[in-house]
Amino acid sequence: MPSIISHTVVAVAAGIAFPPRNMPNHFWSLSVICSIIPDADVIGFSLGIPYHHFLGHRGFFHSPFFGLWMSLFIVSVFFRSIETFSGDWFFYLVFFFLLSASHGILDAFTNGGLGIALLSPFDHTRYFFPWTPIMVSPTGLKAFLSKWGLMVMKSELLWVWLPSFFIVVVSTVIRFVASRD
Ligand SMILES: [Zn+2]
Repeated sequence: MPSIISHTVVAVAAGIAFPPRNMPNHFWSLSVICSIIPDADVIGFSLGIPYHHFLGHRGFFHSPFFGLWMSLFIVSVFFRSIETFSGDWFFYLVFFFLLSASHGILDAFTNGGLGIALLSPFDHTRYFFPWTPIMVSPTGLKAFLSKWGLMVMKSELLWVWLPSFFIVVVSTVIRFVASRD
């Protein structure tokens, strides 16, 4: 995985680049949760669930299908006041879906571990993209504070933080120009 910090950076950048109208209080916390929740599947290691298992790390919980389920759950629990199928309802559904799905997609750009079950639950194959520039992050804090962790952060700064920052800048410029018309 890219580290949890970098998944959070993606969530914050997405929220700044595509802010909802009348931003609700829990918007940011839900955004961050969506971007990092798939890695809760590392609990499987201590429960004896093998890495390659359907529910193992980078399995079903890293799939866009789970992202869709997560998004539907969030919208129906936390945005009950919004009319179903309205414009705002679709905005939140798509926003939280893309954020949840971004996790597995970013992980598929990493260069280590098992691949990501991007088509789960329909196909259990673990996938990487043909291009994997992001150095895989260790799962333990101790390893993360090592030289490996430093190299991971450098690669994530380049391949996750920098593009996120770029998207924020471009969207801010577009909004600024649009507001002057
Ligand atoms: Zn992950």
